[in-house]
Parts: sequence; structure tokens; C-alpha cells
Amino acid sequence: MPPDPSRIRLGLSPRAHDPPGSPVGDGKDIMDQRERNTRDGISRMLSRAWHRRTKSSRNGFIRPGALGTVILLAGVASLAGLCVMLNRPSGASEDAAAATADRQRAQKMLREYFEQMSAPKPLVVRRGPDWESRRRQLREKVLEITGLEPLPKRVPLDVRQSAPLDHPWCTVRRVYYQLWPGVYSSGLLFMPKQFRERPAPAMLSPHGHWQSGNAHPEVQRRCLNFARLGYVTFSSTQNHYEDLSIGVSHQTLMMWNNIRALDYLESLPEVDKKKIGVAGASGGGLQTEMLVALDDRVKAATIVGLTCDFREIMFSHTSHCVCNHFPGVMRLTDHPEISTLGLPAPVQYLTMDDWTKKFQKQNFPAIQQLYAAHGFADRVFCKYFETPHSYDQQKREHTYWWMERWVRGRRDAKVESEPQTKTFPIETLVKLSTEVPGNKGFAEISRIYEERRGYKAPAISTAADWESYCRRMIPALEHLLGEDAALPRQATATSGSTRSEGSRVLQRVGYPSEGGIVVPAIVVRTKKNAGKLPVVVMLGPGAKESLLAEGGPAGARVLAEKGFLVVLPDPRTFGELFATCPDDTNQRQAWERNGIVWGRPVPGMAATDLRGVLDGIASRSDADMSRVQVTARGSGDLAVVALFAAALDRRITGLDVDLAGCCFAKRNLALVSRVLEHGDVLQWAALSARRKLTLRNVPPQAGDKAWLAAAFQAAGNAAGLQTESN
Ligand SMILES: [Zn+2]
Repeated sequence: MPPDPSRIRLGLSPRAHDPPGSPVGDGKDIMDQRERNTRDGISRMLSRAWHRRTKSSRNGFIRPGALGTVILLAGVASLAGLCVMLNRPSGASEDAAAATADRQRAQKMLREYFEQMSAPKPLVVRRGPDWESRRRQLREKVLEITGLEPLPKRVPLDVRQSAPLDHPWCTVRRVYYQLWPGVYSSGLLFMPKQFRERPAPAMLSPHGHWQSGNAHPEVQRRCLNFARLGYVTFSSTQNHYEDLSIGVSHQTLMMWNNIRALDYLESLPEVDKKKIGVAGASGGGLQTEMLVALDDRVKAATIVGLTCDFREIMFSHTSHCVCNHFPGVMRLTDHPEISTLGLPAPVQYLTMDDWTKKFQKQNFPAIQQLYAAHGFADRVFCKYFETPHSYDQQKREHTYWWMERWVRGRRDAKVESEPQTKTFPIETLVKLSTEVPGNKGFAEISRIYEERRGYKAPAISTAADWESYCRRMIPALEHLLGEDAALPRQATATSGSTRSEGSRVLQRVGYPSEGGIVVPAIVVRTKKNAGKLPVVVMLGPGAKESLLAEGGPAGARVLAEKGFLVVLPDPRTFGELFATCPDDTNQRQAWERNGIVWGRPVPGMAATDLRGVLDGIASRSDADMSRVQVTARGSGDLAVVALFAAALDRRITGLDVDLAGCCFAKRNLALVSRVLEHGDVLQWAALSARRKLTLRNVPPQAGDKAWLAAAFQAAGNAAGLQTESN
């Protein structure tokens, strides 16, 4: 029977307070086989589900040191950048020395930005109403950023199960259950043959990025031993699916999957609903941490190899699957605080020689203080193991002990040895399945979210309609782009070299953006034109050097001859600034993912860079800021940057942008979480309906161009719009 939906409320009802017990010794150290995240395991899962839009990603796996590579290469690329002179004095050694200095300067600049954005958020020990209010707020926010606020309707579980496999300690079945209408997940149910009590305690055991998932022998051993101990044990599958444009992150699926797995466990007559524990390692540790944080039904948790300051698992330091990086979480809190939101649920942290190595000293004391301040000092426990990243036997034994103590209620439980455990062949469990007639697959989640949360472009027929539309959309855009997370400007303009090229003057300049970021740019004009010149800011995927090299009537040199002040900047992730080699998408992806975690997506960073350039141009005596056109060619991402910057900056009076067949509906633009709740490219373009706008290569999936034309008409600027389809 499915649980009564009205009875289960996440994050709102206080957990029953158990009487505190006494601490127990930490047991012995027994080395066992090592479980590791494998690139193969991650890749296979991600290749199934990660991301429809990653045309060129390597299955979403971020290589170790990816950001370091970004920084290094950006630094190398900056040889011609921030302060490099076109007319550098000759001499190879002098050039090399200057290049080194430029590289170091760029590295420092980028590292400082990363460090500031990723600064750990220390856990503050709060008490009483202060704590309750903080917890309520954080739970709501975490659910919101993962697209689970409000929680989805609890549809019938519609359980389907395979035939049982027989094991001396239990039976094993694959069980399918419904998450959203037509969306099913599955897991392995280990039903004990011998119960120590009825109803029995239960364990939810999500797995991490183990090769073969919960069929992996190490995951099996944990589940089989819990069954041996008389726990009804369910190992949920670590599903991956992400569609950030409409607000679906991997955590949306994982969290809801585990909440529904608890629903399933509660629906079993064998299970004591008041005695359900959760344990997992690595990605399973993340699932465990999120579940104990948000669902009061969790009686106790063991988080293995996961909890640490978020910055420890950002891309500059370690390789982590993208499922760890959900939108905007670092604007709210950090991992250690999330792990405490289930207080007073007993939480055990098992750490090791991985990103959790520093947790015991750096983070755990504050967690202990928090629990102690609430009278539950014995309900948190941390033990460091000198092992690689694994959920080996000694850690599993500590998990059994913790659950015996806090789920079964044996306060005098000791750490006991795990016996020799017979496991099934991996293939046997992998093949275990049954028919699920109504299963539409995870892509259905996108359809459901689009139906429920997708934008509906409003009719705009009068100037007042358009103005009210802008009043609503501009703050929404600022929020989507994380404008309030932008860092205060710290850098000053750097002036590079100037050189003459016939009648033209070429300058290299660096314009300050947020934080210490300086945007490199080339400014071209002719000597013959005096006074203030109309400004053209040109953006292109080949960045300023190739734009400068382009000929033709729209080329930078020709426009300069015609009397324009031509500006060729490299906003972030283009050209020299975090420049990527064309075939190395990991660099751009690293920044894209960091931006998601920071709540500061790359298009937001780039739009800020572009506006920083405008500030720099505005300070020139030869720029006519009443005539500023931005052109973007050959890149949908840059087109969107131009559209976003224009929406937020009235100094841009004209736009000529080439969407290159991209739009958010096609999921082929840089990630902006939840952008499609508000609008696609045409809806953002409508914010410029009182400027001159040429929109090229608009894909049909972007929607109705007549709607955009109507917005321009309503704004009194019908002639200002030109659109071309691709
Ligand atoms: Zn993952």
C-alpha cells in the first residue's frame, strides 16, 4: 500500500527525539578490498543519461585538475592578452620573461576568482528558534534549487517486481516503482529469511558510482549483511538525468527517487516505519546526506566518503561526476551544514584519504558542537580511515554498528566482524528485471517539468504590456544570471600597447570586470576620424584575434575606416579569457559546471564582462556612448551573452546577433539553470524591443517569431526588428 501522502511532509515536522545513549568505541581496523569510483562506471552511467546537450563532452566526466588546466591554458593564452604589447621590444628572452609574467598574472587572477566564489561557508552553531528557522529556510531552498519545491505529487508506486533470487540469508528481487507519472526507477530488495523482530528495521542503501552499480560485490556485501542482521534492505539505483534549462538536475531525480524508495519501504508490511536507516558511500553518500537532511523519516545515517567543503570537490581539485554539482547550492550553504539538517537524526561520517581527509579536523568539531548544543552530543560520530576512497569491510562494519545502535535501538551494540559473504555473479543481478508496461523513461521528466513549469509567452499588444513584461523579466534574468553573486570589481584597467597600421590605430586594453577579472580587448579606430565615434563591440567564437583578421565589409578594419570605434573583447570562456583549445571542451565545461554550483552561470559571467568593457569604453573621450552596437557571429552562446547584456544595460543601442541555430529549447546553449521557466531566446530578445535588433539563424524550436515582432510593434519599434531563420 502506498503511504498516505498527507502524512509525509518533508522538512516541516520535527523528528521524534530519542533519549541520548552513550558513546561506543570505534572498533578495529580491518583492511578489505577497495571500492573505487571508476571512470568506466561513471562514463557508462553518464553516457546513458547525462546530458542531451553535451555535443562534445566526454560523458560528463571531469578530469582531475580540469580547472587547473583551464587556468594554465588561459594563462598561456594570455600571452597575447591583458598586457601584451603588439610592439613588444624585440629580444626573445625579454619576450619570454614578459610572457611568464603575463601567465602568472592571469593564473593569479583566475585562481582568486575561483577561490572567492568557492570560499567554504562555515557551519554556524545555532540554537532554538534561530536553528529551527535556519533549517526550515535551508530545507525549502535546497528543495527549490533541485526543482522539488513543491514536492511532486505522490503518484501510486505501481510496484513491479522480478522473480526472486535465492540466497542463504535472504531473497533478492529487482523492484520497480513509479516516481512521476510514467517515470519508473528500480532497486534491489533484499528480504531477510529470518527476522529478529516484526515489524523489522529497514535500510535504504543507495550506491555510488560503482561499476555495475548495486550489482557490484561490495554493494551486495553491505546489503546482504544488513539482510543477515534482519533488516529489510533496499538498494536504490543511482540514476542520472539532467535537464537544467527546465530545472531538472541529477539531484532532482536522485532525491525524489530516494524519497519514493522510502515510500516503498514504508509500504512493506515487514517494515517498521519508525526504524529506517540510510547509508551510502561517495555518490551514495551524497544521496544519503541529502535524504537525511530533508526527510524526517530517516532514523539514522552513515555518510561515507562524501561530506567536505564543497570547494574540495570543485573541478580544480578532484574529479567528480556532475551529479555532485547542483544549481546554486554554494549561494546557500556548504556540505557540512546540509548534513546536519536532519538533527537530531544520528549521523555517522566515515572519512578517508580522499576529499574527506580534512573533514574530521576542519568540519566535524562544529557539527559536534551543534549536536551538543541541542543535547545530542552522542548522535554524531566521525572516524577517519587511512584508505583510499572506498566502502571497505571495516567501514561497512562501522555502518552495521551505527544502525544497530540507532535504528534497531541496541545502545550497547559493538562493532562486529562481517562474516564471509557469498555474493551473486554481477551479471545475475544486472539481468534481473521484469516488464514495466507504463515506463516512458527519464526523458519524460523533462516533458513533465516543461508542462508544469515551462514559460508561456504572454500576449504583448501595448506599450504598457511591454513595459510591464520588462519589469517582470529583467529581475528574473538578473536572478538566473546570478547578478547578486557577482563579485565587486577589484581590478583597474590595464592599458597595453598602441600601434599604428597605416591610418588605423590598434590598441590592446584590459577592462575590469567583476572581482579581479580583466577582460582583454583590442580597440581599432582610424586617426582621421576625430571626436566621439559610434561604437561597435564585436564578439566571435574565434575571439578578437580572428575577428581582427576577418576581412569583408563587416570586418573590424573596414568598420574602423568607416568611422566606428571598434572593440573586440574576449568575455569569459571565449578567446584568451579562459580560452579553450577548440577540441578541449573540458575547460569550458569545468567553468560551466562551477558556474552552476555558484549560481553564476557562464553567460552571466560573460554578460558582466561585456558590461565591464562598456564601462571601460565609456571612460574614453573618443566613444559616443549614445550609439553602441553589439554584434555576435558564429556562436549561439555569444549571441545569448549579447542579448542578456543588452537586456541589463541600456547603453547597448543596437544588436546584430547570430543565434547559429541555437536556442534553449534545443539544449545547445551554455547552461542557465531554469531559464525555460521564463523564456527562450525570443523572450529575452523582446527586452530589447526599443533598440535596433537583427536576429540571425533563429531555429524553429525557438518559437514564434511573430510573437517577437508583436513585442517590437507594441514597443513602438516595429521597424527595429529583423529576423532570419536558419
Ligand atoms: Zn554521478
